[in-house]
Amino acid sequence: MVQAVVGANWGDEGKGKITDMLAEDADIIVRFQGGANAGHTIVNNYGKFALHTLPSGVFYDHTTSIIGNGVALNIPVLFKEIKSITDKNVPMPKILVSDRAQMVMPYHILFDQYEEERLAGKSFGSTKSGIAPFYSDKYAKIGFQVSELFDEAALREKIDRVLVQKNIILEHLYHKPLIDAEETFNTLMEYKAMVEPYVCDVSAFLWNAIKEGKNILLEGQLGSLKDPDHGIYPMVTSSSTLAAYGAIGAGIPPYEIKKIVTVVKAYSSAVGAGAFVSEIFGDEADELRRRGGDGGEFGATTGRPRRMGWFDCVATKYGCRIQGTTDVAFTVLDVLGYLDEIPICVGYEIDGEVTTDFPTTSKLEKAKPVLKTMPGWKEDIRGIKEYDKLPENCRKYIEFIEEQIGFPITMVSNGPKREDIIIRNK
Ligand code: GDP
Repeated sequence: MVQAVVGANWGDEGKGKITDMLAEDADIIVRFQGGANAGHTIVNNYGKFALHTLPSGVFYDHTTSIIGNGVALNIPVLFKEIKSITDKNVPMPKILVSDRAQMVMPYHILFDQYEEERLAGKSFGSTKSGIAPFYSDKYAKIGFQVSELFDEAALREKIDRVLVQKNIILEHLYHKPLIDAEETFNTLMEYKAMVEPYVCDVSAFLWNAIKEGKNILLEGQLGSLKDPDHGIYPMVTSSSTLAAYGAIGAGIPPYEIKKIVTVVKAYSSAVGAGAFVSEIFGDEADELRRRGGDGGEFGATTGRPRRMGWFDCVATKYGCRIQGTTDVAFTVLDVLGYLDEIPICVGYEIDGEVTTDFPTTSKLEKAKPVLKTMPGWKEDIRGIKEYDKLPENCRKYIEFIEEQIGFPITMVSNGPKREDIIIRNK
């Protein structure tokens, strides 16, 4: 069976922890989109890890970890990450890389930096990992697939062709040093040496695995609201964050994705620019940020402080719908135990009218939150294993949100560890 683990919000919902937990019963874990621009934080018996490219299943020895064709593959980052986990005594994971995955080129990272510099105050808040230039080139058909590393003559010819265009932009738009073709070729040969042992026809591998009845997890990055089509365009990421894209980014039939576990955080956080209706500021935000996640809400890749907000029913209802949610995993609930009262955003007021439908970006920018306040539970809920043992006000918070979003919360995560999970039989 194929299951997807995806986010309903702006990312950082705790997908890594849920994937790591579900990976116990999985044979294969596939990353299907995104690149090293976002990260998952995982806490397990080996320690605490920030993964950017590797799937969250790499800590088990029974799983195969796959980088699908939809990923923006940064080969040196991948290998640094493998080393960072094996250095901490995690056994060398079984890794496969799609021959159709495209590579982040060194110049993609430079172009990302140069463009942010050029835009100055009007930037998108890019992590400068080269992701937007990478996907732009992919769709402009001047990207480089892993498979192209194995035909050196054709590769040289293509590098020459692509660099003509890149160097014109470098010289005339950014006024930066030009890129040398020989150096680019040599870098790609280094990448080839690193990646060669892992390259595989991933869609064929997965086709066979599905036929053999293997359990496959598709692991998404970021969340619904960062999707380029359905998110808060243009403050979005450059590849689709939706479970549906899992079929494309892994190369499997769409009808094989039977379960879509959408991860929803018990409060909101976001990174980068863009409308964030339930955002909070000042001391209130600082306290939630400091207590949030596991050791504070700071970006796993950049260390940037995340923007904080109350739970947003409007955004989450939409985020779950657009994912095609079958199950909601409700995470980081333990963090809210300090609050006397917990505000929840239950509607958006736009031009004097209240709606619970998530609007397009221009309207979203005008939206003001309609808040409802619920009593807190003022208790540490970590360690609780059964739903009925949760404090009454905590259950009321969960059940109110479940009703508002309209999708079943079947898992409640009450701590960062694998075993901090309450399975709710519905
Ligand atoms: P992802 O990108 O969706 O995997 O999210 P991140 O890893 O960036 O952020 C989630 C953070 O919350 C990480 O630091 C996790 O260790 C932590 N976390 C996940 N689930 C829980 C939970 O239920 N409680 C607490 N306190 N922390 C959690």
